[in-house]
Amino acid sequence: MTNNSNYGFATRAIRHGQDPEKTTGAVIPPIFQTSTYAQESPGKNRGYEYSRTHNPTRSALAQCVAELENMKYGLAFSSGCAAVSTLMHFFEPNDHIICSDDCYGGTFRLFDQVFQTFGIQFTFLDLRDDAKVRDHIEPNTKCIWVETPTNPTLKVVDLKSINDIAHEHGILTVVDNTFLSPFFQKPADFGTDIIIHSATKYLNGHSDVVAGILTLNNDELAEKLAYLSNSIGAILGPMDSWLVLRGIKTLALRMSRHEENANKVVDFLINHPLVEKVLYPGHPSHPDYEVMKKQTTGAGGVVTFYLKGGLKESRKFLESTKLFILAESLGGVESLIEHPAIMTHASVPDDLRKSLGITNNLIRLSIGIEEAEDLIDDLDNAFSKIG
Ligand SMILES: *Cc1c(COP(=O)(O)O)cnc(C)c1O
Repeated sequence: MTNNSNYGFATRAIRHGQDPEKTTGAVIPPIFQTSTYAQESPGKNRGYEYSRTHNPTRSALAQCVAELENMKYGLAFSSGCAAVSTLMHFFEPNDHIICSDDCYGGTFRLFDQVFQTFGIQFTFLDLRDDAKVRDHIEPNTKCIWVETPTNPTLKVVDLKSINDIAHEHGILTVVDNTFLSPFFQKPADFGTDIIIHSATKYLNGHSDVVAGILTLNNDELAEKLAYLSNSIGAILGPMDSWLVLRGIKTLALRMSRHEENANKVVDFLINHPLVEKVLYPGHPSHPDYEVMKKQTTGAGGVVTFYLKGGLKESRKFLESTKLFILAESLGGVESLIEHPAIMTHASVPDDLRKSLGITNNLIRLSIGIEEAEDLIDDLDNAFSKIG
């Protein structure tokens, strides 16, 4: 009953993979805080042997997210980076990967500093440029790694077109769907092979867990990745799995509110005399607005903007908000503010950072689900400190 894909998103988020527990009828899937499982006879078990391999709480979470992403299989990891890292072990020395040029700073560091030393080659490109992407495809290109919208400048990559280019060449596509969550964007519907998440962000939504998820459809690939997950062991614990599962129950409500608030904040910022430029792909002023409208049902809660001034003004502004907490991360119910050049994107080399527009007057907001009026007042007050 609960595994019925005909149900709407919010229904599936609350019920999928979460039937009442068999022995007690507990409505909520228990936290199976165990490392191992009793066997009746050597090798004779109930499908569970050891929790690195299988854990019912973790499986419930992975299955729920897979279902929301219109995928068949899911795996849950101890962080978004652990999911990326485990997936990278699927590739071999001399394989070539094309990646979004302003991907998440931690993903960039992992590719550029860690996996490059294992002989995997990376090219970082603006994936909106089809011709450029085609130009960089080599015989050893195995994967196109897409983030959309990108972080922090919120560039939007055309999912259908990038998947088509990749598949013409037998190349796998991965989409990091952290920023929009399946509530707003379902990359699988455009042919994406693998979707990854930092569940730390919107999926969990309460800034109290670090977790990662990977979902996919292909049977053979799913078996390989489950093998890698078990071998490498960067799995999510039962307690954290349970917390993310709980967070997902309100994903639909939260995402709607994040977006509603983001739109109000964008309207305020666009009209503010101390703002140079606002970047929000849900607003017609964004260069990728049309692509965004075509492939998503909403633009989410991350808003970036350039204020008028330099590092001095940015610093003062960032120190002056009271509701917006100055912190890295995003996607929680509480609003956060941060400075990408100094904070989240510090690991991106200077020249690349400049060419991506990550300048000292760029500020990123993660709009929470508080009252929009309070958020706007808070920003207005911070502007008055630099005006
Ligand atoms: C945070 C984030 C990651 C990394 O996830 P962790 O859970 O912090 O390891 C990857 N991609 C994006 C887009 C992110 O925002």
